[in-house]
Parts: sequence; structure tokens; C-alpha cells
Amino acid sequence: TKHFPVRRRLRDLLSRTPTVVHAVDDVSIALRRGRVTALVGESGSGKSTVARLLAQLYPRTGGDIRLHGASIRVRGGRRFRAYVRRVQLILQDPFASLNPVHTVRYHLTRSLRIHGNAGTGPDGLEKALADLLTRVSLTPPERYLDAFPHELSGGQRQRIAIARALGADPEVLLADEPVSMLDVSIRLGVLNLLQDLKDRLNLAILYITHDIASARYFADDTIVMYAGRMVEGGDSETVTQRPAHPYTRLLTDSAPDPERITGAGGDADAATERGHGEPPSLIRPPAGCRFHPRCPHAMPRCTTELPPPIPVDDRPGHWAACWLFDPATVAAEKTGTAAA
Ligand code: SF4
Ligand code: MG
Repeated sequence: TKHFPVRRRLRDLLSRTPTVVHAVDDVSIALRRGRVTALVGESGSGKSTVARLLAQLYPRTGGDIRLHGASIRVRGGRRFRAYVRRVQLILQDPFASLNPVHTVRYHLTRSLRIHGNAGTGPDGLEKALADLLTRVSLTPPERYLDAFPHELSGGQRQRIAIARALGADPEVLLADEPVSMLDVSIRLGVLNLLQDLKDRLNLAILYITHDIASARYFADDTIVMYAGRMVEGGDSETVTQRPAHPYTRLLTDSAPDPERITGAGGDADAATERGHGEPPSLIRPPAGCRFHPRCPHAMPRCTTELPPPIPVDDRPGHWAACWLFDPATVAAEKTGTAAA
């Protein structure tokens, strides 16, 4: 859970007395080595905040983060330092994340040194650098080592950012929209590289995206977020092909966009832009189900009670936080309608 304080000036503009932005509430994710988990949502749904919480870039408001079952409670402690080495974040914009005045050699050497992976002596370092570049398919390494970020293409820069993360010898990669700033033609190449690294290095990957169609292509499991909460989860094939939650159905129904990776529809931001309504304020989120103001199936209970995750059909692990999947609620609503 992460709540951000609202700045005073904004607070004064609002009639009531809000105190915080509910950016992330009760999100719970288990990442496993050798698996990609997609976290899908529109801008402002809280998905990047989840990545930053998991990367320990700022403290959480509530909840727990564990690595191999051990809680990370003390910031700066021994466990914390081991954690931030094991869990690496890759950002959307590789140009912003690389310092323009430094070469590839500088960025990668720094990562290797900080994490104690620079080998011994100059030969050890050169070999470690060449290994990193080879892993991200930038070969021959000599061609890239002394290049500055502006001398590389967007795809090459993102590969350098990935190589820098690998310099820590991580177990987990948090990839926050890793291809959304890249040309359509090279997106698949970078996603395929991540998948290949996942297999070869047995990584756990959290793949954050607004493109649910790419989740089907790239991720084993998919979790959908709406307005700071998880609304549906399960294996990617089921969530993307047989979505249960009305919000996920809205995403998968949105028109295909040929500009995107798979061209198969399902862009969370586009769904909003195309007039499917606005996401709610996270300063005073709607009571009950946060999707109820936009939901075509909303029932009275939805406006007051938060739906828990409820198992959907017979697919193991498929769930939706929606009262439609609670037989007692549906029966009660039917009775109510009949009586009326
Ligand atoms: Fe719609 Fe109610 Fe389900 Fe929320 S809980 S998605 S409002 S039917
Ligand atoms: Mg984001």
C-alpha cells in the first residue's frame, strides 16, 4: 500500500479535507523465478508505483516486501542492501536513465563495481563488460563500450539499461513499460531478449504495461490494476482471452491499434481515451468497488462494499475482485429485482 500526501496548495483548492492520494491499496504479487508476471493498467492506475515500491525507491505506507520469505523491514540494513542488488528496475525511457556525459563502459563498470561483480584486475573487468554486452546481444562488445548514449538507437540504449541491471546479478527484473518508448519495429526484439534472459538466468520478471495484448504474448501470469487496486489475475491466456472483470473486458474489447506490439487491441490508455469514461480520483476514491461509476453491471452492493478476490470458473488461479462472481450477491440482486 502506498499513499502520497497531497500538497497543501492542492488541498486548499478542494472543498473537503482530503489527506492522501491512494496510489496503491492492498496490491499483493508473488514473483517466481523463471516466470514473467504482467501488471496491466492505464496511466495513473498505480502500476509504476508498485514497481517503485518493489525497487525500494520509497517506503511503503503499509504491507510487507519479502525476498525468499524474509521481510525487508529496515531500510539500509544488510537484508535491504542484498535486496536492492537482487531486485533491479528497468525504466520506460532508456535515454533518461543513462547519463548522457558518460559512456557505456562507465555505466556498466559502475554497476559491476557497486555490486562486486567486476572480477579481478583489468582483465577481469574487461571480460565482465564483454559478457554483459554479449548477454544483451550487443556484439562485438568493443563497438559499444566507448559509445555515448546519444550514439546509440533507442533499442540499443534499452539493451544497455538491461545490461546495467544484469551487472548486479539480479534474481528479479522490474520492467516498467520497457518497450513503450521504442519504435514498434524493435519492441518484439527487446521483449524477446528479456524472455531469453529470463530463461537463461532464471529470472523473475515483473512486466508493467498498458497493453494487455502484449501481456498475452510475453507473460505467464497477468494481473490487472484499476485505480490503485488489483481487479483480476490469473494465467495470461485466461485473463486476456476469457477476461472476467468488467474492467478487463473493457480493455480487451477496445479497438485494435496497429501501432502496438501485437496489433490485437487492449490498450488501457486508449480504452480511456476512446470515451469509456475516466478513472476516478484517487484522493477520494469511490466507495465499494472503485470501478462502479463506470461499470455497466454495477449493483447496489457495488457502491458500498469492496469486492474481495473471488475465484472465477474452473481455471485454477483465475480470480476477479467483482461481486458478479459471488453467487450469493447475484442471487440476492435477482430476488431484489423480482420483488421490485
Ligand atoms: Fe462492476 Fe460491481 Fe463488479 Fe465492480 S463489483 S466491477 S461495479 S459488477
Ligand atoms: Mg507508469
